[in-house]
Amino acid sequence: MCSIGEDDFGDDGAAHAMAVESLPLGIVLSPGNCSKCDVNSDELYKLNFRTAECRECFLAYARHKFRAALGAAKILPRNAEVLLVLDGSAESLVLLDMLHFAQTQNTFKRLHCNARVVYVEEQQVQGRDPVHLEALQNLSTQYAPFDFYVIELGALPSSMQRIKDYSPSLNANNELIHKLQKLRSLTARQDYLQQQRKNLICSVAQCLRCTHVFESNISVDLATQLLTAIALGRGGSAALDVALLDDRLSGDVKLLRPLKDLNEQEIQFYIHAQRLKPLFQKGSRYGREHGQTASLQNLTSAFVANLQQNYASTVSTVFRTGDKIAANSNPEQSSCVHCRSTLDTELSDTLLAIEYSRSVSEAGVSLYKSGQDLEDLAKKRLENKDGLCHACRAIQAELDSGNLL
Ligand SMILES: [Zn+2]
Ligand SMILES: [Zn+2]
Repeated sequence: MCSIGEDDFGDDGAAHAMAVESLPLGIVLSPGNCSKCDVNSDELYKLNFRTAECRECFLAYARHKFRAALGAAKILPRNAEVLLVLDGSAESLVLLDMLHFAQTQNTFKRLHCNARVVYVEEQQVQGRDPVHLEALQNLSTQYAPFDFYVIELGALPSSMQRIKDYSPSLNANNELIHKLQKLRSLTARQDYLQQQRKNLICSVAQCLRCTHVFESNISVDLATQLLTAIALGRGGSAALDVALLDDRLSGDVKLLRPLKDLNEQEIQFYIHAQRLKPLFQKGSRYGREHGQTASLQNLTSAFVANLQQNYASTVSTVFRTGDKIAANSNPEQSSCVHCRSTLDTELSDTLLAIEYSRSVSEAGVSLYKSGQDLEDLAKKRLENKDGLCHACRAIQAELDSGNLL
């Protein structure tokens, strides 16, 4: 990622060579005419599928995608209270910069909403280096008047602090870490962590009286998210995992993904154009530890990354397929007490088959039980009123002891 400021260009030979090397592919530092506005520029941006353009034209194009996502569906009420989730990735910085820009426009073009920013510190849970506090404080100064808050993943929502008051807690008694340690598979740990993170963000939004949450997922994240959801048995709610609007959060908080139509190249160009400095590299977000095959999520992520590299257009096809799946959301139907997806009310043959094979494997080699007994047991489990959906029940089954919630 390019993090070299303007001042570094035209320095001595070595520094200049380094600057060129770290430029994202497609940005050319040689004078030429912008194909959009015809102005001569010494920094041209050439996105795949677009002609070379100047910095201003590129920025206008990228920002338009953000505004169009919010505007087309009239999804954000005027003067809404918005909570932006910052995770330190390039994507989240782009979202912050775009929202800030949209707020500083003149009355006519201005996006009318009030924004706050929350940084979710995942250091304890993910076992990685803590965020560089000074870098975070600099961001809060740069993006004034947005208020910045910090919350630690696994902590109570009420422990959230303003950035100026924040100091990392040395509290090793993180309830979430204990829970994660009890889960046998990495697949279950990652799925559980993602749901918990979402629930925490929702609670923070409620504490700050925000009605809308902005997350910075881009198209490749959503393609991964879609395939992961299906692999985890969350197919019934997968559409909401990739949609612009996800209304499964409690307390009527709505989750929006205004960057969903941006791709990685656009993010890289934007980072360069605005000289932003990501706090973390992407991929460290959901703990891609233990290698590509260690969990369903890691495997899916590696698969999509590979697609992206070799068949980039396939990724957008995958992601657009998600748009076409009708979301299974009926307010009349009850929802899962953990992930809040709509519960299947009818007995599904597929789920019954899964429960059946689970019962068989639990009965072991001795097989005291007859086929009918096992089927009855499977049915009983499906009808179990634990309030969990199929996928969350799979997490519960991975828990050594205790309860998921
Ligand atoms: Zn131009
Ligand atoms: Zn669930």
